[in-house]
Amino acid sequence: MAFALSPLPYEDTALEPAISAETLSFHYGKHHQTYLDKMNAAIEGTPHADASLEAIVAASRGTNQGLFNNSAQVWNHAFYWNSMAPATTEASAELLAGIEAAFGSVDALKQQLKDRGLGHFASGWVWLAEKDGKLSIEETHDADTLADSGFNPLLVLDVWEHAYYLDHQNKRPAYLDAVVETKLNWAFASENLARGTVWTYA
Ligand code: MN
Repeated sequence: MAFALSPLPYEDTALEPAISAETLSFHYGKHHQTYLDKMNAAIEGTPHADASLEAIVAASRGTNQGLFNNSAQVWNHAFYWNSMAPATTEASAELLAGIEAAFGSVDALKQQLKDRGLGHFASGWVWLAEKDGKLSIEETHDADTLADSGFNPLLVLDVWEHAYYLDHQNKRPAYLDAVVETKLNWAFASENLARGTVWTYA
């Protein structure tokens, strides 16, 4: 069965000015859609056709790079849309305690997210993640994902140029600053932490 593109959880203008409707029209409407279309074409008529997205990512890792890249990018982008909100949301007490234990404060975590996003060479993803009760920042390159990694991903930032080039050109720090300071969905991170298992694509 072919997968459908998961709906954007807000209007396409909802992330302005950090991320414009024009960027979302390309990033969600073209890039995300293309990863989905390529994945659907690759799984049609194969045993993957009836699998979950998470199972396809795990099964294709290291065995089918094309399918892995497209399926991981479908998952990563759906997770990324949910990692942002029209206005930043509230962290739970559990999440705040985890952040303070690992980073000292929310402001220190925000600065580290921005620093790691800026320092990440070329394309990839910067994650807030949990493992064995401890929070950390993790980076994955290109399409690589934490969906099947042993970490519980809480939030992600897309640092591919296509995430910011139309709005901020080459100024990745401006994109990171705008998203981290004004759009992070701490409530989503809190739900992921409370569940204790990896978010699933629907
Ligand atoms: Mn992207």
